[in-house]
Amino acid sequence: SARVARPRAELLRRRGSNLSRALSLAYDEPLQLVHGKGAHLYDQHGRAWLDLVNNVCHVGHCHPRVVAAGQRQMAQLNTNTRYLHDTVVDYALRLAATLPDPLRVLFFVNSGSEANDLALRLAQAHTGRRDVLVLDHAYHGHLGSQIALSPYKFDGRGGEGRAPHTHVCELPDPYRGRLRDKAATGAAYARDVEARVAELAAAGTGPAAFFAESLQSCGGQIVYPDGYLRAAFDAVRAAGGVCVADEVQVGFGRVGRTFWGFELHGVVPDVVTMGKPMGNGHPIAAVATTPEVAASFANGMEYFNTYGGNPVSAEIGLAVLDVLRDERLQARAGDVGGRLLSGLRELAARHPLVGDVRGEGLFLGVELVADRDARTPATAQARAVKEAVKAHGVLLSTDGPDDNVLKIKPPLAIGHDDCDFFLEALDAALAVVAATHWSDR
Ligand code: PMP
Repeated sequence: SARVARPRAELLRRRGSNLSRALSLAYDEPLQLVHGKGAHLYDQHGRAWLDLVNNVCHVGHCHPRVVAAGQRQMAQLNTNTRYLHDTVVDYALRLAATLPDPLRVLFFVNSGSEANDLALRLAQAHTGRRDVLVLDHAYHGHLGSQIALSPYKFDGRGGEGRAPHTHVCELPDPYRGRLRDKAATGAAYARDVEARVAELAAAGTGPAAFFAESLQSCGGQIVYPDGYLRAAFDAVRAAGGVCVADEVQVGFGRVGRTFWGFELHGVVPDVVTMGKPMGNGHPIAAVATTPEVAASFANGMEYFNTYGGNPVSAEIGLAVLDVLRDERLQARAGDVGGRLLSGLRELAARHPLVGDVRGEGLFLGVELVADRDARTPATAQARAVKEAVKAHGVLLSTDGPDDNVLKIKPPLAIGHDDCDFFLEALDAALAVVAATHWSDR
């Protein structure tokens, strides 16, 4: 029988006493959700909310085929990976088939953070080095090893600053960065990677790895300038480093034109980490690498991960891949995302608060500014827009170093009607917020 939703005040009180205060809740008035379907969430009163936030429930909330696969396998068998099992091997083959050669060795883990932690271990084992290059404002996970690679955390509130083995490269942000031409600045931005590599060389070492998301999410939905990743990878590889693409947010067809984000840039990483959308909400994640890097890691120490790659997770992961294929969701991401992008650009033409609209497929960002020339971040306005679209029944989040970027990354099950509904809500919200915040401009 379904659980009865408790009164919100009671939940808030219990959270306060029994859960860590380091956790946060979205919105001034937090939502109490009880059900999800497609691109919608439903609260305790049965009200529907259009979900533009959840890039984990990728093929749609509670997709029946994914749920059934998990239920079936839970009733059949769940064990660790020290036994032979068809599904786990089939799943590894299916995933490898989505990746370019020579990325064909897979490790299954339980979260994006674990995937990046293992990627770090692989790179350090392969190179015999410790130092890592990361992009400014990057987030790669909540494990200690990943906080140390995440300027988003270590440079933020409560952060302890940069660890000696971490080296931060300039974020190639064509809107807010030092160079503002997306077509012509890739190589110039990559010179900062070359500079970090040169500093390491002067210290008698080199990079173990360069970690980068294929498009940066927490940093504010950044699409790098053309040629940036290729030039950055060249610099890292010339110094013997391993290139790691974090696809935890952007992988599995979200960007529409390609299945993986790195494919947009015409590069092949040495290690790819994936997570969030992989199990449609079930905790499953993976690292893919080359036989060469994998061989350096197999030094005699067993890699054992209690839950990673268990048959239930593998069945769920396979079902997600089946649904992506059968419902042609990558193409849909391109199609619906393209329509959304042009709708957002049309809003930008009418609302001075919108400084920039960017993205690929269903990975989009709308950067709000109080002054278009000075590009002054409109942080309070972004928060107000988030609350104002919520009043229309639309959920979106804000992020970026100044928390002034509206992030749009819905389940790929979102429809054209939903997009039109959102665009109308955003149009109204931008008008109201611009009117109330006029004195800030
Ligand atoms: N990498 C990126 C780019 C992420 O956005 C996240 C999660 N926000 C992670 C890694 C960590 O994933 P998880 O929370 O599953 O550990």
